Amino acid sequence: MDWSPRVEALVRELSRLPGVGRRSAQRLAHHLLRCPEDQARLLAKVIEEARDRIRPCARCGNYAEEELCPLCVDPRRDHGILLVVEKPSDIAAFETTGKYRGVYHVLGGLLSPLDGVGPDRLNIATLRERLAPGTIREIVLATPASTEGDSTAMYLQRMVPADTRVTRLARGLPAGGELEYSDSLTVLQAFEGRIPA
Ligand SMILES: [Zn+2]
Repeated sequence: MDWSPRVEALVRELSRLPGVGRRSAQRLAHHLLRCPEDQARLLAKVIEEARDRIRPCARCGNYAEEELCPLCVDPRRDHGILLVVEKPSDIAAFETTGKYRGVYHVLGGLLSPLDGVGPDRLNIATLRERLAPGTIREIVLATPASTEGDSTAMYLQRMVPADTRVTRLARGLPAGGELEYSDSLTVLQAFEGRIPA
């Protein structure tokens, strides 16, 4: 079926979103064209504002609107325990459990020498600063259970001061360890069953 070029463009852009196939994209496009106009405009506006205003937190790399993200400035969090993740969406997996009270560090990727991703391409220099002796009691390496996740964890482990406990998540997450697709009970069990690295 031939849609008008603008409908086609809308379907095409929506189908580029992760997990959205062409049929879902068509359904979303029809919805956006038929829902109250305010609702569609609001969606466009919040996407634009988020892209304009969100930047990496200067301390942990999480999404932030100010220099530091809400988690880093929260005095109720335990700033002595640091959970290291690959990407900001992994934070959501731990926050959904409602049980983790420490803070985070987002690497922004994993080491992958074959793809030319070395330590300088990741948010590792800031992590080194945060790990000054006497500041962090425990660092939890929550990189995925994959070749790249493992070698990244091994690299990070070497830069942790001797007085800091280093742990890794218990196995039991799905293959590839995709935190963002794991239910919160699985994530919580992986955290609570963490093992010395
Ligand atoms: Zn932060």
